[in-house]
Amino acid sequence: MARPPRKLLGVAACPCCGLDAPVKEQGNGYAILVCGMCDGHVQAKSPQSDAKLRAKIKQPQDEKVPEVAPPAHAAPAPAPPRKQPNPAAPREGGSFLDALGGLLAGAS
Ligand SMILES: [Zn+2]
Repeated sequence: MARPPRKLLGVAACPCCGLDAPVKEQGNGYAILVCGMCDGHVQAKSPQSDAKLRAKIKQPQDEKVPEVAPPAHAAPAPAPPRKQPNPAAPREGGSFLDALGGLLAGAS
């Protein structure tokens, strides 16, 4: 039976590589940090270690977390205008067939 996804508690600096790593809650309620960059694991196995690991979780005011979605009231960025193909103006450099045609014309 599939294990339910772990609840994300926040991010903390990995003690191995120093990069931000997600801190999640295990099924037993204790926190666990699994670093995606260096594969380091820090697993709390007691209330004491759980409290210490949770204390390392960065609070939102500490640093802006890029994973946070923009506010719902923010308007989405307008899509860039789609570039229409222009057959009158061939692409810069031409296509393979254009180059091949030029070679064949020059050879004869
Ligand atoms: Zn790491």
